[in-house]
Amino acid sequence: MTTPNEFSSCVAQYDPHALPVPAAQAIVRQWATPVDAVERVPLRDALDRVLAEDIVSPIDVPAHDNSAMDGYAFKGSALDAAASTVELTIAGKALAGHPFPGHIGATECVRVMTGACMPADCDTVVPQELVERSADASSIRFSAAAVKAGGNRRLAGEDLARGHVALRAGRIMRASDLGLLASLGIGEVHVRRRLRVAFFSTGDELRSIGQPLESGCVYDSNRYTLFAMLRRLNVDTLDLGVVRDEPAALEAALRSAAASADVVLTSGGVSVGEADFTKQLLRTFGDVAFWSLAMRPGRPLAFGRVWSGERPGVGLPALFFGLPGNPVAVMVTFYQIVRETLLLMAGATPSPLPVIHAASRQPIRKRAGRTEFQRGVAARDAQGEWHVTPTGSQSSGVLSSMSEANCFLILGHDQADIAEGERVEIMLFDGLI
Ligand code: AMP
Ligand code: MG
Repeated sequence: MTTPNEFSSCVAQYDPHALPVPAAQAIVRQWATPVDAVERVPLRDALDRVLAEDIVSPIDVPAHDNSAMDGYAFKGSALDAAASTVELTIAGKALAGHPFPGHIGATECVRVMTGACMPADCDTVVPQELVERSADASSIRFSAAAVKAGGNRRLAGEDLARGHVALRAGRIMRASDLGLLASLGIGEVHVRRRLRVAFFSTGDELRSIGQPLESGCVYDSNRYTLFAMLRRLNVDTLDLGVVRDEPAALEAALRSAAASADVVLTSGGVSVGEADFTKQLLRTFGDVAFWSLAMRPGRPLAFGRVWSGERPGVGLPALFFGLPGNPVAVMVTFYQIVRETLLLMAGATPSPLPVIHAASRQPIRKRAGRTEFQRGVAARDAQGEWHVTPTGSQSSGVLSSMSEANCFLILGHDQADIAEGERVEIMLFDGLI
């Protein structure tokens, strides 16, 4: 990120009037430079943060071989292979946290509870429900077929072995990871600082909640969907409000956004019919390409870098996404283009979002030559097969189609019309975060 026109020269090889979605994703990905700052946080504060270091296990987990069942531990490897019944004398007991201190012989066993350390000499546990105890409770009998040597024992280090990497840098920490680190006795970790994302909406027709809605005006909903999606990614958000379609207002908003954030997101003002000053302005303060993606919803997209100073390369830089204004297009473009870049910039190693196949409950019209992200409701039938029904209107202004849906139907670039019953790819919304 050194020279101010590095970006425009990088994208010049593509046709900006019909950029396929995978090509746009690939270009954008190249510009995602991870934040380097790291902070040390207590384990509980690490939830949803990006791990900045490999965590090497300082101990074996479990620390000792232990019993996986309530039962009797004995030396399975010393049993007489020809005998059909085993009879052992109970030499003592071991509870979780209270090991059996002594040694036993080949014809003895130790009463053990789940989690108890395996007594010395023992390698096998017979579950208590498979044994018959003598009347005076001094011995047990069981069929030799009931258990194989080495059975029902958990080995030391079976969960995590000392010296092995337990979690890799770049991991977005989940509940199980907090537990895993706790099981290693680790109470603090290094995480990347949170990514800072500034966003604002543009449009003279936009009103904020609480303002009267004059005719021809709409309430600004994009700042709320963007805020919520950014929150889900656990980035720091800076809401710069609604900015009027005026050069001075837009300039001030852009420069202050670049000064305080790693990434600037705007919505509206990048489509063909918009006043040209937006484009001029972004060229004045940034190095920005204006694309028309082969995508529906969400054709227009401006992408590049902006600076807080009076010209590109001066002041603080930020990555810039000028998203379309239509409410569904904003959400779709965010999920399909912006999301992964933010995760990469946050230092995460994002795994591909899960895609499954579902049979369409109805025919779908689809033109080859663009990727469509239709909204749908997916469910499994009694046989366990996934089916999907597109929500009614697929217009990019109908936000209720997002609210009703639980998935995107991803209709690929080359895909044409889809027949009823044909299988399509779907991406469940809950997999998106
Ligand atoms: P634009 O991309 O600015 O041409 O906007 C396209 C459409 O999206 C227009 O109908 C706008 O009124 C609408 N729109 C733009 N920004 C917002 C917003 N922040 N909230 C709701 N609708 C918007
Ligand atoms: Mg507009």
